[in-house]
This record gives sequence, structure tokens and C-alpha cells, in this order.
Amino acid sequence: MKIKFSRQGQEIGEYPEEAVPALLQSGVLLPTDHYWHEAIPGNQWAAVGSRWAASVPPPAPVSVGAPPPPTTSRAPAGPVCRTCGQGTLVRARQHRMSGPAVVIGYILLIPSLLGMLIGFLVLLGTCTASTKVSATIEKEARTSLEAQKLPESIITEVIAGQTPSEAELAALTPAQRSAVDSVKLSLSASKVGAGAGTVVAGGVSLVIIITSFVGGLLGWLLVMKKTVLRCTHCQAVVAAS
Ligand SMILES: [Zn+2]
Repeated sequence: MKIKFSRQGQEIGEYPEEAVPALLQSGVLLPTDHYWHEAIPGNQWAAVGSRWAASVPPPAPVSVGAPPPPTTSRAPAGPVCRTCGQGTLVRARQHRMSGPAVVIGYILLIPSLLGMLIGFLVLLGTCTASTKVSATIEKEARTSLEAQKLPESIITEVIAGQTPSEAELAALTPAQRSAVDSVKLSLSASKVGAGAGTVVAGGVSLVIIITSFVGGLLGWLLVMKKTVLRCTHCQAVVAAS
């Protein structure tokens, strides 16, 4: 009876059954090879080592089925450690800086994040507040102009910061004209005041934000991690290539 043999999914030949022990002995066949003949129950390929006592240990794990797929090469192991010569180097993450620097980094980082947050909130609050202030001032100005029964076109112009034309002013009573002048004066004064307040508060919060950002950057640099190769055996650390 002739038997077919395969290795890693490739047929390697047909031999008579009686020749198999000698072929195993000489290494032509391996216990890990598979064999097939039509008399096998289920008509499947089986490991050579499962039928013929292997002359060379160890016996291969029995796998049954059609010619097995070519064994995939195992994932390449890491480079061997040069320090101890036994371990394998595997990738690991570690802080770039030594312990105390990392601690300082975290101390810098946390208040910096808070500082930036507070700075942004103050900036936002300042903008909202100054908008509210000018809205109030404009409302007051409108009320005092309306009390003088000024035409709507002139009220709008004055509040928008424009100067009504000579023709428009000529039609006004002296009381209306002085109301326009006083409103213009108070509007410009309060706008300058509110503007200055906004600039100061905005400047302060910007300084807080920038300072916090620089501190945070420094902290981040201190706690930054890098990829290294670490030996599984002696824990020696090598820079990752
Ligand atoms: Zn090692």
C-alpha cells in the first residue's frame, strides 16, 4: 500500500508503508509530516508521528485535516539583551526624566491646567461684563434723549457715536442740543472707562493664561515619556532605535 506524505502543506512523495520506519530513521520523513491513504477512516491527513513511533523525539502534536496550511513563522522575538545575553528586549514606556524631575513636572502641570482654565473664565467674564456695561449706558443715554423728545434718527446717531449733521442740530431746541452734547460726553467717557477696564482685566487674564501655559509646557516636558527597550531578564534599559 502506497502512502502519500506532505510537509507544511506540500506533498513530498509516496512511499510504501514498510519503508516508513527506515525513512523516519534516516530523516527523509519527520514525525511532524502528514500522511494520507484512502484506507484512513474519514479519508483525512494525519500526523506521521501518530501512527509510526517516532524514532526521533519529541512527538509532534497531532493535527487532523486536509494538508495543513504552511506553518506561519512566529512573530519575531525582540533582539537579545547585550547586557546579560539571556533576556529579550521588549518595548516599554518610561519617563524621560528621573524621579524628582517627574514629581516637579506634575507639581507644575496641575496648577498650570487650573491657571489656564481660570484665565479663560476671567477673560470670558470680562468680555461679558463689558458688553453688559455698555448696554446699560446706552439704555440710560436713550432714556435721557427720549425725555427731550428728540427724533429717533438723531437718538440712533448719537448712541452709535456719530455726530448729527448741522441741519439736524439746527432744528433742535437749545435744551435738546445740550442733552445731545451731554449724552455724547458721557457716552465717550464711559466707553473709555469700560474699555480701559476690559483691557486691564483682559491683560491680567492673558498673563495668567500665558504663565500657566509656559508652566504647563515645562511640566509636560518633565513628565514626558519615551519608548525604550527593556530586557525581560535583567531589566537593563536600552534606547529604542
Ligand atoms: Zn538582560
